[in-house]
Amino acid sequence: MKIICIGRNYRDHAAELGNDAPEEPIIFLKPTTACLYPGQPIKLKPFLGDIHHEVELVVMVDSYAKDVPERMALGLVASFTLGLDLTARTLQNELKAKGLPWEKSKAFDGSAVLGEVELPMTASTDLQRLSIELKKNGALVQQGRTSDMLFTVAQQIAYVSRFITLEPGDLFFTGTPAGVGPIAEGDVLEGFLNGQRVLNVTVAKG
Ligand code: MG
Repeated sequence: MKIICIGRNYRDHAAELGNDAPEEPIIFLKPTTACLYPGQPIKLKPFLGDIHHEVELVVMVDSYAKDVPERMALGLVASFTLGLDLTARTLQNELKAKGLPWEKSKAFDGSAVLGEVELPMTASTDLQRLSIELKKNGALVQQGRTSDMLFTVAQQIAYVSRFITLEPGDLFFTGTPAGVGPIAEGDVLEGFLNGQRVLNVTVAKG
């Protein structure tokens, strides 16, 4: 199992960090040790600096696959939820400025927060017609629609599977809409998919 993340997949989020919209999907990975499971609090580590929330649609694939055609890609998706792609933003900016890989700022322990409600893929599920919201302490901080993705979930799966063999249980973090920002001790973060709360996590001291 691995965690595959897609960067800058919404135009408004790419723009808020001063980046151009990518011409091809931007891929990075998190290790399984990055998973923060439901019920566990986010623990802030002072040495990582400021940590930003990035709420994202997360899909799970349930079979091995390589070179998947786009038209067949959604057949691999078993379920979906929301997650937080936690990012050590200042550190990431330093690494980007030096042309270095992002892993220290993206792959640290607990950086892949998973929602507690896993929704099954059904014949009527349309992953590109979902609304995503993140509330911090009850206030709306991120809002987006998956119809605004630059690369659809099917395109992401097909593209990634050209480079990396997919395995059962792999998770795709499919990119965040605009509104990313810092979290602090005591914060409560709630993620909503089409109005249904599927993610609920608190921020504790490290
Ligand atoms: Mg992200």
